[in-house]
Amino acid sequence: MRLDCSTPVTRDACVARDERDPLRALRDCFELPPGVVYLDGNSLGARPRATLQRAQDVVAREWGNDLIKSWNSAGWFDLPKRLGNRLAPLIGALDGEVVVTDTTSLNLFKALAAALRLQANGPGAARRTIVTERSNFPTDIYMAEGLAQWLERGYRVRLVDSAEELFGAIDADCAVLMLTHVNYRTGYQHDMAQLTRHAHAHGALALWDLAHSAGAVPLDLHAAQADFAVGCTYKYLNGGPGAPAFIWVPQRHQERFAHPLTGWWSHARPFAMAPGFAPADGIGRALCGTQPVVSLALVECGLELFEQTSMAAVREKSLALTDLFIDLVESTCAGHRLGLVTPREHARRGSHVSFTHPHGYAVMQALIERGVIGDYREPEIMRFGFTPLYTGYADVWDAVAILRDILERGAYDLALERGAVT
Ligand SMILES: *Cc1c(COP(=O)(O)O)cnc(C)c1O
Repeated sequence: MRLDCSTPVTRDACVARDERDPLRALRDCFELPPGVVYLDGNSLGARPRATLQRAQDVVAREWGNDLIKSWNSAGWFDLPKRLGNRLAPLIGALDGEVVVTDTTSLNLFKALAAALRLQANGPGAARRTIVTERSNFPTDIYMAEGLAQWLERGYRVRLVDSAEELFGAIDADCAVLMLTHVNYRTGYQHDMAQLTRHAHAHGALALWDLAHSAGAVPLDLHAAQADFAVGCTYKYLNGGPGAPAFIWVPQRHQERFAHPLTGWWSHARPFAMAPGFAPADGIGRALCGTQPVVSLALVECGLELFEQTSMAAVREKSLALTDLFIDLVESTCAGHRLGLVTPREHARRGSHVSFTHPHGYAVMQALIERGVIGDYREPEIMRFGFTPLYTGYADVWDAVAILRDILERGAYDLALERGAVT
């Protein structure tokens, strides 16, 4: 619902909206420091309250007391699959198609290697191009370029700059279309089904990175007929800093899914300790080696919270929050050189909103000083993530009021030193 410009929104109206919000109770399932409006859940999700207890239990009881028995008794060994099954409904995947493991970069490498192998062993054997966007998250491009060079078979990564160029680049030489569904900088959301259809019509496979989509927007990988997908659990899924990522391989590709990181966890019988490699049946073959169990176990606390709602409800509130933020910024901060880079069109928008400002870094630091935590991405982009599980309408109001105050008073420091992470 767009706001009616003739009736200015008040803070009281935002508070009233929070009181009516069907997701209101979920906010109490998160630990957030008082006085903070946290708008960076797209980069590091907030901590579910239950996570502390779970961490205590994993470290003190499962590890401390039960020691190595916990691989069986606490289900450590099965965690990647169990968590994958719990995550699956959020992305339109089936049981036995997802594992939570490794990092997004590594999973992307495995999925891309598998996709190139599928093409090399089929009618697409002559195809040599991996198509992606120049604006993609750099690690995705680095991993693709690294793999392409490593293979020494003439593979190349083609970086496109516009939607028209993207459609044109999916041609008879394109082996894999590798895209991030929601752009990390702009919040632009691709039409996954349409692009996948286009890729298939031209003989290419489609690999999707869901880092900024999983837990943020409704996803249906099967309806879109995607070929492979990877994504993060430490962003919108609230798994904790550096929590393992996920990889999705649909049943139809599992038998022919092969990647080069053939560690013992992807073996059919890891404890046979056999000298020869034989891939596990099913999604297990997407694994590689021993996982960071403590971190992995905490992912479950984030996933559990999504079972108390639906992605449709999350999406409805996400759009309401981002609409409210855009409207309030544009109506109350006009004349302060802010430029909206996130699409206004709902279907093309993820769950974060980015504005450029010539002094974006300094303004963001001033916001953080005042308790409004977003982040900054080159060039000039201030990024604000909206996480419906714990962000309210009054939070949006307060964030914009502080932003306006900072801009009106010019209360930001242009001489600030930058930290390693912006
Ligand atoms: C956050 C993000 C990553 C992170 O990759 P890691 O290997 O977990 O560091 C990768 N790709 C995209 C598109 C991201 O947004």
